[in-house]
Amino acid sequence: MNEHSPVREIKGIGEKTEKLFQKMGVYTAGDLLRYYPRTYDIYEAPVPVSELEEGTVAAVEGCVFGSVQVSPNRKLQTVSALIRDLTGTLKVLWFRMPFLRNTLRSGSRIIVRGRVVNKRGGLVMEHPEIFQPVEKYQEKLNTMQPVYPLTAGLSNLTVMKAVREALEHIHLQRETIPESIRQRYHLCEYNYALRGIHFPADKTMYMYARKRLVFEEFLEFLLAIRQMKEEKEMSVNGCRMEKKQEVDDFLSQLPFELTNAQKKVWKEIRKDMQGDYTMSRLVQGDVGSGKTIVAVLALLEAACNGYQGAMMAPTEVLARQHYQSICEMFEQYGIPFRTELLTGSMKAKERREAYERIETGESQIIIGTHALIQEKVNYRNLGLVITDEQHRFGVRQREALAKKGNMPHILVMSATPIPRTLAIIIYGDLDLSVIDELPKDRLPIKNCVVDTGYRETAYRFMKKQVEEGRQCYVICPMVEESEAMEAENVIDYSTMLSERMGPEVTVGYLHGKMKQTQKDEIMEKFAQNQIQILVSTTVVEVGINVPNATVMMVENAERFGLAQLHQLRGRVGRGAFQSYCIFMTASRAKETKKRLDILNHSNDGFYIAGEDLKLRGPGDLFGIRQSGLMEFKLGDIFQDAGILQMAAEAASSEEIREFPVYGRADRDNIHVL
Ligand code: ADP
Ligand code: MG
Repeated sequence: MNEHSPVREIKGIGEKTEKLFQKMGVYTAGDLLRYYPRTYDIYEAPVPVSELEEGTVAAVEGCVFGSVQVSPNRKLQTVSALIRDLTGTLKVLWFRMPFLRNTLRSGSRIIVRGRVVNKRGGLVMEHPEIFQPVEKYQEKLNTMQPVYPLTAGLSNLTVMKAVREALEHIHLQRETIPESIRQRYHLCEYNYALRGIHFPADKTMYMYARKRLVFEEFLEFLLAIRQMKEEKEMSVNGCRMEKKQEVDDFLSQLPFELTNAQKKVWKEIRKDMQGDYTMSRLVQGDVGSGKTIVAVLALLEAACNGYQGAMMAPTEVLARQHYQSICEMFEQYGIPFRTELLTGSMKAKERREAYERIETGESQIIIGTHALIQEKVNYRNLGLVITDEQHRFGVRQREALAKKGNMPHILVMSATPIPRTLAIIIYGDLDLSVIDELPKDRLPIKNCVVDTGYRETAYRFMKKQVEEGRQCYVICPMVEESEAMEAENVIDYSTMLSERMGPEVTVGYLHGKMKQTQKDEIMEKFAQNQIQILVSTTVVEVGINVPNATVMMVENAERFGLAQLHQLRGRVGRGAFQSYCIFMTASRAKETKKRLDILNHSNDGFYIAGEDLKLRGPGDLFGIRQSGLMEFKLGDIFQDAGILQMAAEAASSEEIREFPVYGRADRDNIHVL
């Protein structure tokens, strides 16, 4: 067996399990080895009952106090006991384990470990693991058990066993980092790192393993960027454009004036497109800063110069939204160019017709998803390519779009709040423009962080907003374990909310498992205000623009990264109405409160990202990832800024250039930037 062997060859994996693994993107033994745990279960020292916190998993050591009860409910037989230590008494429940009545003796010492929840005002531990005699806990103390991303039918234990098998039977030889560099930055060997990331003996081993793998991830990424940059460096502008009066006329007809920041960025773009070299520019601007209109101006200028312009968005919903708003604007201001929409869910016939109009040049502006880079699409004269919400794409995809033309200009839009120093490393191949100002008419969003007791008040508030003609979003908590469960969750929630809101309010829902046409339909209805409250997973997080929506309520806000919450919040406050953001949290942990307070007091994405990092500190590796930012497998550009810096140094070193894998860096695997 080697890294390329199908997972089926691993002992214990049959056809059924193989299918489940494939569903999770694991095809080969190598994929499995790189299927990293999403977190770890750490058996920490027991804590006193008085210090237990709601929502955490903890161990408690004490004596069984009084008699053990078995509830008469046949459907869900519950065993309950009281555990007492010097600081207090804790109620503990087990489900469907009636035999425990005979093993738990009043007065005996015991350690229980499980989740602490709040039930009718008191803390209760649910279905804990039992350690008796208490010495048994010693064996597990401080060990870290991997917790893998799962799907229905695939258990954590199955994944653990498979990974263990693979680690045992694959002879690993791969070393992608030169010895001298490993020594300089204290990086462990590849084999050790793989073992350490799956089955760390302790935290130290985990930290070393992770550091090495994150370093490697960053290094490969940086090398790929560098290579691209070298290929492209100073390419002569083959799509030279002139300043067109039509674009200025269009601009003067818009119902608003550009902000100074927008004007400045538009000027930079224009100058690039006229200049001697091909443009490669990143436009960074916080959510709602008005990046789209700048992109539209660039597309229009390209079209006026006789070139095609294409804009790629990460989701169909977003692509369609851009398409519609451009069509509306062009119609309203009498712009004669044809705009084309190209997405994966279009019918074959529609798509063929679109291809044809693109190939003949009948369509000058093309908006779409990944469909834009399909092999069958031939552009006639592609002079400008734009990627919106860039952090969702791989380097490869941006490159693929550019290859559809003959060295077209490249414009990249991103709302990712990255400090300039980091941006220069990450987007090393791009020039940087920043829109650091929001349109003047915006009222700052009013925020509140509340506990679940406030839910009814929040519903009443939303109902009132709807009565005033506004619309609302409700974000359901993520269900990490499976998409199917997540979908169920969203549907249940929206049914409940619909009943609660009464017949005058239409509640719709959106989740990742829906078919594209269904999603479009829902978004369309929401945009038209036929749906007033949209219950959704985070699929609405990127880019969606419905200025009439004024309330964003996020359930289980503690489960999201701050940057992601900031993106979600960016869906409201996009028009002239006062908007509100309600962060609902069930957790009473102080940490959570502190984190959410940052959002509560600032609407500035850059500031939030910085504070979040400060609060968690670079050492906190188990914190919530800044998910949605850069989709590195393990690395996080904020948390691991130090490692990123090291990798950047290493990427420019001589040793790397001489190392055989350089140039072979697997660029297809890079899904970042
Ligand atoms: P983002 O930067 O998040 O992509 P959008 O480009 O979607 O933001 O813009 C958000 C909203 O602000 C849109 O409805 C857009 O029409 C509007 N907008 C853009 N620029 C201005 C401006 N200068 N003045 C007023 N409204 C603007
Ligand atoms: Mg946008």
